Amino acid sequence: MNYLIYPIKVMNITQTYENDFSHSRHTVGTPKDYPIDDNCGASGANGYFYCPCDSMVVKKIYGVGTSSTNVLWLESTTPVITPTFTDYVTIMIGHIEDAELKKLKIGQTFTRKEPIAIEGKDGYATGEHFHIVVGRGKFQGTGWVKNTNDIWVINTTGGAVKPEDAFFIDNTFTTIKYSAGLNFLDLYIPTIDDNQEYYYTTASLNVRLGPSTNYNAINSLPKDTRITVQKFINNWARITDKEYVAGNYLTKATPNKYYEVKSTTADSLNVRSKPAGTILKVKAPLPKGTTVAIMEEKNGWIKINKDRWVYAEFVK
Ligand SMILES: [Zn+2]
Repeated sequence: MNYLIYPIKVMNITQTYENDFSHSRHTVGTPKDYPIDDNCGASGANGYFYCPCDSMVVKKIYGVGTSSTNVLWLESTTPVITPTFTDYVTIMIGHIEDAELKKLKIGQTFTRKEPIAIEGKDGYATGEHFHIVVGRGKFQGTGWVKNTNDIWVINTTGGAVKPEDAFFIDNTFTTIKYSAGLNFLDLYIPTIDDNQEYYYTTASLNVRLGPSTNYNAINSLPKDTRITVQKFINNWARITDKEYVAGNYLTKATPNKYYEVKSTTADSLNVRSKPAGTILKVKAPLPKGTTVAIMEEKNGWIKINKDRWVYAEFVK
């Protein structure tokens, strides 16, 4: 699955977008962006920026051979799944040295977890680090635009996003040394096998990637769906390692008739308005492992909610 993961092996955030050392001018101006600095765990040039999704392409390189801070733009080649949206992403990375950037070419692509460049301090940074800015959507215009504080901020079709709204932490890849108070969502949460209980939905519910309405809704479950709850977090029920529903709309009382759930097996499963109908764009396509309700099966199609159908072959 094309989840967007944090691009560094040891997270050590030395400045967030909220700090007023040099980043606050980004967040109080218009438009804004949300930079973080990460020195990859220790001082010195020891950490790489790795490709954080299935594939990214080099869109622009700025500043090589000049006194300006070097900046690299990468764009995902397909939509990625983040904790808060599913879309293309564009990432701006500052301070990589000339020698590293000279190895890269516009149009060059990288695949997931492939090293792209080592951290640097080009542009009078006090120590080697990456200055990282994420934008939703594709590279737009020249990739950046001056804000009302005379600061260059990222320019993408979907606007700047906070890093914790964009990156999951792949905890098999990244170790968090210091997150500077930013609350990132883990990609892998161990499944709890004990303590699972049946609950039933009392309304059609969005299924989200994290425990609040800020997180990406990837599907919906109809009223009277039977689910297992692993754990409640702030009144959100975690139903699998990446799926949450609002706890207020669950009951333990068994309805007269209820729907069982299954899980999707395709990497990306289209949702249609009816069997073989229009492909829907809202809460669709479904990532692999999405919980779906089985409301009805008909000619190789499964109804998963009102006017939402998927191909039965990819549901187990
Ligand atoms: Zn910075």
